[in-house]
Amino acid sequence: MLKIGNHISSSKGYEAMGRQALKLKANTFAFFTRNPRGGSAKAIDPEDVRRFQELWKKQGYDRIVAHAPYTLNACSDKPEVRRFARETFADDLKRMEYTPGNYYNFHPGSHVGQGVEEGVRLIAGMLNECLKPDQTTTVLLETMAGKGSEIGRSFEELRMILDQVTLSEKIGICLDTCHVWDAGYDIVENLEYVLEEFDNTLGLSRLRAVHINDSMNPKGSHKDRHARIGEGTIGLEAFERIINHPSLRNLPFILETPNDDEGWAGEIAALRKLYLENDCISRTETL
Ligand code: FE
Ligand code: FE
Ligand code: ZN
Repeated sequence: MLKIGNHISSSKGYEAMGRQALKLKANTFAFFTRNPRGGSAKAIDPEDVRRFQELWKKQGYDRIVAHAPYTLNACSDKPEVRRFARETFADDLKRMEYTPGNYYNFHPGSHVGQGVEEGVRLIAGMLNECLKPDQTTTVLLETMAGKGSEIGRSFEELRMILDQVTLSEKIGICLDTCHVWDAGYDIVENLEYVLEEFDNTLGLSRLRAVHINDSMNPKGSHKDRHARIGEGTIGLEAFERIINHPSLRNLPFILETPNDDEGWAGEIAALRKLYLENDCISRTETL
C-alpha cells in the first residue's frame, strides 16, 4: 500500500494528529516539532504518545516524518542564530525519542554569503554535536531548491555534509520533488537518470522519505513555490512514475501542497488510484 500523508498541525498532540491522518485516509504524516517560524515547543504528554502509538499499531502503520522549524539555520553568520539551531535541534532529538524509530527532517541551512564550504562545516558541526550513538531517530537532510544561499541544492552538497558527520549512519535524505525540480533535476523527463545520480552520490539506501509537491515554476528556477499535485510544472504523469518507481514506491510520501483538508484527502485518494499494488508490478516485470 502506498504510504502517503500530509503535514498535520501538532497543536492538539499526537493522538489528535493520528486521528486526523486517519480521517484523510493517510497512513503516514508530517508535523512540525514546534512553531515552524518560532522556537517554543509544548511539553510532551507520555499518555498522549501512548494512545497515538496504540492507534498507529492497530492500523499497522509505521513511520512518521517530523519537520524542524524553518528558522533553524545551522550555518547562519550570526552566532545567536547558530546557537538557537543547536539548542532546538538537540531538544527536538530528545523529544523524538518519545516516539522511537521515526524520522526528523530539517533544511540544512543558508550560508548567507559565507560560502558552501563554511556552511557545510557549520552544519556538520551541529550534527556532530547533537547526534547520539543511542538515538533511535534517523535525521533527514532535505534536498533544497537552491533559493538564495541554501545548502543542499545538489546531491553533491549533501554528500559534503555526510562526509563530515561522524555518526553518519544516523543520517538519511528526504527528497522534495518541488525542490529537486527547481534545483534543476529533470524528474519529469529523466527520473531514472536523476535517481542514478542520487545513487552514485549519496546511495539510494540513504533515501528515506519523499516530500511530494508539484512546482509553480520551471525546472532550474531555484524558486521553491509548491503547487498542488497535477497543477504545476511537474504534472500528474510524472508523479505516477515517481510513486511507482521501484526505488521510491516503499518510501513515505508527504504532501506539502497549498491545500485544505478536503484537498489533501483528494490528493491522497488520487495518488492511491495511480499506485500499482505489488502483484501488478511483479506481473509486468515477468512479462
Ligand atoms: Fe521542508
Ligand atoms: Fe519539503
Ligand atoms: Zn519547499
